[in-house]
Amino acid sequence: PATRTATRTATRTHCPYCSLQCGMTLQPRGRTLEVQPWAEFPVNEGGLCRKGWTAGGLRGHRERLTSPLLRDRATGALREASWDEALDLLAGRLRALRAEHGPDAVAVFGGGGLTNEKAYQLGKLARVALGTSQIDYNGRWCMSSAASAGNRALGVDRGLPFPLADVEGTEVLVLVGSNLVETMPPAARHLDRLRENGGRVVVIDPRRTPTADRADLVLQPVPGTDLVLALGLLHLLDAAGAVDTAYVETRTTGWAAVKAAAAGWWPERVERVSGVPAAQLRELADLLAGAEKAMVLTARGAEQHAQGTATVLAWIDVALALGLPGRPHSGWGCLTGQGNGQGGREHGQKADQLPGYRMIDDPAARAHVAGVWGVEPDSLPGPGRSAYELLEALGTEDGAKALLVFGSNIAVSAPRTGHVVPRLEALDLLVVADLVMSETAALADVVLPVTQWAEETGTMTNLEGRVVLRERAVEPPAGVRDELALIADLAARVGSPVPFSTEAAEVFAELGRASSGGRADYAGIDHDRIRREEGVFWPCPSPEHPGTPRLFTERFAHADGLARFVTVEHAGPAEPVDDAYPLHLTTGRVLAQYQSGAQTRRIAELPDDGPFVELHPMLADRIGAHHGEPVVVTTRRGELKATARVVDTIRPDTVFVPFHWVGANRLTHDALDPASRMPEFKVCACAVRT
Ligand code: SF4
Repeated sequence: PATRTATRTATRTHCPYCSLQCGMTLQPRGRTLEVQPWAEFPVNEGGLCRKGWTAGGLRGHRERLTSPLLRDRATGALREASWDEALDLLAGRLRALRAEHGPDAVAVFGGGGLTNEKAYQLGKLARVALGTSQIDYNGRWCMSSAASAGNRALGVDRGLPFPLADVEGTEVLVLVGSNLVETMPPAARHLDRLRENGGRVVVIDPRRTPTADRADLVLQPVPGTDLVLALGLLHLLDAAGAVDTAYVETRTTGWAAVKAAAAGWWPERVERVSGVPAAQLRELADLLAGAEKAMVLTARGAEQHAQGTATVLAWIDVALALGLPGRPHSGWGCLTGQGNGQGGREHGQKADQLPGYRMIDDPAARAHVAGVWGVEPDSLPGPGRSAYELLEALGTEDGAKALLVFGSNIAVSAPRTGHVVPRLEALDLLVVADLVMSETAALADVVLPVTQWAEETGTMTNLEGRVVLRERAVEPPAGVRDELALIADLAARVGSPVPFSTEAAEVFAELGRASSGGRADYAGIDHDRIRREEGVFWPCPSPEHPGTPRLFTERFAHADGLARFVTVEHAGPAEPVDDAYPLHLTTGRVLAQYQSGAQTRRIAELPDDGPFVELHPMLADRIGAHHGEPVVVTTRRGELKATARVVDTIRPDTVFVPFHWVGANRLTHDALDPASRMPEFKVCACAVRT
């Protein structure tokens, strides 16, 4: 039988990639790791996707970094160095930059794939050891719009406020901008059971994806118009008398204004803006009006917009109007993307937050966390810049002069990389901790080789708010360090007033104390409990507390217990199409790759067949493009040469480019959502030529 410790038998752990955090077991096999599913883990029930099956391939990979690297100023090349030399040099330069320009001269950039312990220590490194306000992370580009909307409407930000398996019991599931069958295939079993139980699946996506292939109804809107579909639904549901007035009166506020705003969005007007036939919208409204139990799940397609927060709020309005949140097999939720997309934003690597999802400008929150850290509240900096704004300011007069990057490949994943990469190059000091020479590491002055997931222990919080434990299965290669040890060492060398633990279980216990009483309360969770219970849902304020798989059953998280309807208006994409750039460009993921591809593009078993661009046959005919031949996609920010894939599953006015390969984000727009500061990755104006 599998055991939970690193012995000759297999080690139970979780996948290194997406937010499903599929349970798996690992066993060393020569230079690689044998992956097997952990059949009992309830989220994936033994299922894994190709990425999970092949995740062991980075162990012993010839491109693994095993020595710190320093850029030689004379030659411009990177050379090997000892850890002491690298950290001495790094700490010395950080101290000098702080002395010359102040603490905000140093910035920290984290990632949504880091464990909770690392995210927590990064926040503490920034605020306590470096004293900088300049810390944010790539999760800002993942689901921050859903976080903003959840906080505003429901009083808390937890992606799914119920276990994923709850979808099996719903009658109507509406997926807005989610390609779950391709991006997290083991989750498809829950969709299939829903349909076996007689439920219906509705997919809203400009592309007819593999998820749409399993749907009963598919709506293909113009990118950037999901919001008006929600307004149109509110209009129809109200007109049909389908609004749950008892629920609206007892559990919510703000309906009257939303009702008035929706009155202006009759189906034919929605059709003119979104391209979705009025009859399809009516069909969806009828489905929802006739269901006792229904769910709306949003994902990046709805959220990665300059109006992402407003779009999600509009869909939460739909769920509230139908009286869904808090009822069994019903409600609104967000399907998080990155492995620790949820936990990564709860413990202090976000510019405006302290651990426990406490706001950094709240005096009580500052006092609590400062007490746990053993420092004075006044010594903690205030809020910093959001991820893109932090990068955009690099090297400028009031921007940071040094950047420490952990768990992120900014040079590929940032929006408008043609603007961002020169900002990285303008830095006095760029430091990247990574497993391999990512495109960002290749630009760095200091590269620090760190452990990968199978070589370390730490917790992740999956898309359901379930805190799971990744266990160390193998020893790291010689020369590689765990990031917890690296952060502790660096903190000491820059003169931290307090010590940093290097043990994951100790760090997690400290995180629990820091989060105690906060919105994301982990105080009752510890590593051993997770091992025993195979995951614990937050909030869990004490060891006796059972955890909270389902939220909102009695009350919402606002002080008065009520949810908020929020009135929103459609503004459309920040960059509308025009004669010069007549097509909509949208970006997204494919099955065999993950995020910037730094890991998955190096796994031999996974097809590295990008970049490519999907275009409709009518468009291909018009520009003379042929399947498998190169085309050039241009926007006002840059161009990308990619292989044409001529498919009839996409709108004729839209092209799709996956973002796993260098260059896709040269094209994207950097308009930001005013609340979440999410860039508009999902739509901009483009042209395509042969
Ligand atoms: Fe890993 Fe996500 Fe694939 Fe599961 S679905 S195996 S967590 S990448």
